[in-house]
Amino acid sequence: MRVGVIGTGHVGLVSCASLALMGHQVVGCDSDPEKISLIRSGVAPFYEPGLDDCLRDEMASGRLTFTSDVQEAVRGAEVVFICVGTPPRASGEANLLAIEQAVRQFARYATGPAIAVAKSTVPAGTAGRVQRVLLLERPDLAGQLDVVSNPEFLREGTALEDALHPDRILVGASSPRALETMRRLYEPLLNHGCKLIETDIRTAELAKHACNAFLALKISYVNALARLCEKVGADVVTIADVMGADARIGRAFLNAGLGFGGYCFPKDIQAFERLAAGLGYEFTLLREVARINEEAVAATIEKMRGVLWNLEDKRIALFGLSFKPGTDDIRFAPALALARRLIEDGASVVGYDPQAGPNAKEELPELEVVLDPYEAAVKCHAVVICTEWPEFRSLDLVRLRNALIFPLVIDGRNLFDPSDMRAAGLLYYPTGRPPVEPDDLAS
Ligand code: NAD
Repeated sequence: MRVGVIGTGHVGLVSCASLALMGHQVVGCDSDPEKISLIRSGVAPFYEPGLDDCLRDEMASGRLTFTSDVQEAVRGAEVVFICVGTPPRASGEANLLAIEQAVRQFARYATGPAIAVAKSTVPAGTAGRVQRVLLLERPDLAGQLDVVSNPEFLREGTALEDALHPDRILVGASSPRALETMRRLYEPLLNHGCKLIETDIRTAELAKHACNAFLALKISYVNALARLCEKVGADVVTIADVMGADARIGRAFLNAGLGFGGYCFPKDIQAFERLAAGLGYEFTLLREVARINEEAVAATIEKMRGVLWNLEDKRIALFGLSFKPGTDDIRFAPALALARRLIEDGASVVGYDPQAGPNAKEELPELEVVLDPYEAAVKCHAVVICTEWPEFRSLDLVRLRNALIFPLVIDGRNLFDPSDMRAAGLLYYPTGRPPVEPDDLAS
């Protein structure tokens, strides 16, 4: 099938690669010409495991090409994926300007029957607006241009794997012809047992927000529990294990820590809450989810103050700057929120991340970024584990302790075994678990 993709960011570029791997003829386009020339050279503009190799293979096969001319991507395509960003406005509602622009381009350049597939996360009701734009822009193609909602569920860090082996494919459509085309498009995945859920368009749009908000809710729930555990002296990890052993609850997304970030949960819960409010329903639960999430960074600062007293003139190392492991994406990363707060409080902050250092430095120039975790720890009063990169688990803890001028580790991801920290002589503050003091510091 001939497929166009508008927007080659995290979702669009992975979609290009996976659709080409499925055997389709794919043309990806982006309004940023620098991004396109980088991609054409075989390098993704962001870190995503396996993606560069896959792009190179698919471009070499001739199934995948890229252009900065959107007309080339739309012309002759049966299906055009819209994968542009939907950032938050100051009010929290989703800014859909890029969606409107992409849809107008789709309408302008469509050469015959075609489907605009919304992969971007949009508020329920967006497809109706898209349909209206198509009718107004192309009355000559009335009845031939369709809209489908096909929300994306991939996770950065495992995006390619998720796109090729999704838990489910969700398609919201109002026309049987569009639905049939989507079944044909995804046939290679459906033949391997992937579940296709077909709904009306509004249900599909709302389902995406419902999923993200629920996952965020689980994280905030366990983070609120962590606060309580710290006051009671209980262990939130064990509580999460007990909860997770109940098949009705499940263990996933019950890891207490510095909170969620990234380009999905923070903006999507806000957009969902704003959508509901606009429709006359006060979804206050979502506001609480966001509030508890912000509290996680504040609680980390309080923990630090509790041990170090004043933060002025203290030097703090942050391990992990991306919003989660496996990506260099720092959008809404809790590590950066923490760095900003510490800098405001007069501390100097140094960060280390296996991938996200350059992005973090660009976003927050006051942050010192180094290329080695032990170098980051030198002359620091504390290390905060902000992102659970697997490589942090194998740190030489004694070497870390020797680099620090005060041996405090605040674990915002509960990555370490407390007994290993005690053995290394570190003062260890996990999240929602009792702190550990080495014998020589206990008073
Ligand atoms: P992104 O910012 O990485 O990519 C968006 C791309 O669209 C950019 O490269 C931008 O230059 C391009 N663009 C904007 N307007 C354009 C236009 N008119 N023509 C051509 N290109 C244009 O965003 P993303 O992370 O890929 O997210 C895209 C959407 O998918 C968002 O709605 C997001 O909520 C949703 N989503 C993201 C993820 C994720 O993990 N990042 C997962 C699921 C869903």
